[in-house]
Amino acid sequence: MQDRKEKSLWFLTGSQHLYGKETLEKVAANAKEIAGALNDSFGPLVRVVFKPVLTTSEDILSICMEANNDPVCVGVICWMHTFSPAQMWIGGLKGLQKPFVHLHTQHNRDIPWDEIDMDFMNLNQSAHGDREFGFICSRMAIDRHVVTGHWKDPEVAADIGDWARAAVARDESFSLKIARFGDNMRDVAVTEGDKVEARMKMGWAVKGYGVGELVARVNAVAEQDARALVDEYKEAYSLSGKLTDDPDALRKLEEAAKIELGILDFLQEGGFSAFTTTFEDLHGLSQLPGLAVQRLMAGGYGFGAEGDWKTAALVRCMKVMSRGLEGGTSFMEDYTYHLDPSGMSVLGAHMLEVCPSLASARPSLELHPLAIGGKDDPPRLVFPVATGKALNASLLDMGNRFRMVVNTVTSIKSPDLPKLPVARALWAPDPDLKISATAWILAGGAHHTGFSMSLRPVHMEHFSRMLGIEHLIIDTGTTIREFRNELRWNELYYKIQE
Ligand code: MN
Repeated sequence: MQDRKEKSLWFLTGSQHLYGKETLEKVAANAKEIAGALNDSFGPLVRVVFKPVLTTSEDILSICMEANNDPVCVGVICWMHTFSPAQMWIGGLKGLQKPFVHLHTQHNRDIPWDEIDMDFMNLNQSAHGDREFGFICSRMAIDRHVVTGHWKDPEVAADIGDWARAAVARDESFSLKIARFGDNMRDVAVTEGDKVEARMKMGWAVKGYGVGELVARVNAVAEQDARALVDEYKEAYSLSGKLTDDPDALRKLEEAAKIELGILDFLQEGGFSAFTTTFEDLHGLSQLPGLAVQRLMAGGYGFGAEGDWKTAALVRCMKVMSRGLEGGTSFMEDYTYHLDPSGMSVLGAHMLEVCPSLASARPSLELHPLAIGGKDDPPRLVFPVATGKALNASLLDMGNRFRMVVNTVTSIKSPDLPKLPVARALWAPDPDLKISATAWILAGGAHHTGFSMSLRPVHMEHFSRMLGIEHLIIDTGTTIREFRNELRWNELYYKIQE
């Protein structure tokens, strides 16, 4: 799918009039230099746009309102080069609706010991200017990210870059439209949730459609378009089994191509970037969409099976957040365990729908029966997932708040699985399977997740904080005693928030 056009972060520098024209010109030149350096370090992810130095409450309010209204701006970077009396910032910060990072830096890295005078001191005084700004943010209880260090330090740029990914994803979240073909799988609890609250908190527009509307699009796909897409499949994947010579199997593959083009047409026309299906509502479709879902996910769409709109939206946001990074992101499900004490692991897969962006090699395109749903055999891409560091993320509606649970894992190589006709991942969760699964279950984490080999926990944490939702991490440092306490304390915190 078409990615959104380039987004920007605005670089806001605070100061005041007391310093006089000459000093303020230096402040502006220095700030411009820092904004330019950050811009260079972020690559195509986001542009850093320098804005004129702010010295009055009117200017600050005005720039914050402009940032709110600019659809390209995903957040702001604030830095007090000099002293900026922070009461001036109250109006602007009160109205600012974009996330911001407080960059606590100084233009000069080192103190020039032999030459330092009061002019130098007055110019380079973020050491106290940024403290004044920090006070007003804390006094107003505004959540923000604070990054400390010299602006040429690669760790500083990387830290802001991680935050910027979440800001881009938050921007996506607030314009996200999700199409649901059919409702949630009957009686399932964890995939349900409050769509009104989701729109208020995360911006998601969740729209339901009868599957008949999709069927009409699928039936309208021209035969030659479907055949052209099948040719693309033959180029991109290794066809195996019945698909190599059985005309009936090939007919089913053409039907899968029509389903892909039908869904794509529907999503493009409605401006949707995530969708759900359910095997319980396929009336008029000859097969459960498998290959279509896999390929649309690889093209950037979010997806959730069995009507799981929360995971569909989460996968889309995670895909946007990871843009340009190595490694894929997919809808995933914890399927079955290997509980051998010498090395416990989780086999993750779904009925069909794992994104080939995770594939370790060229996927094999295969046709097999599906035991559930009573429909035609669906084609699907079969592959093992690449190995390496990964994470699983789950989003839950706890009634009085949304909760994100993240677990760091290591994707490992599995033995050959000659009889398993689906894409799959095998992972060892942190800190180990027993603690991970116990903590996940205590947190109410779902069986559906967004699985990413490109994102790190820090990205997910920034994202949750920007959305103002609860965030729990299960990683190498997790103990059940501390995790239980965190759950209890959070319960209390969110009761107070009600
Ligand atoms: Mn499922």
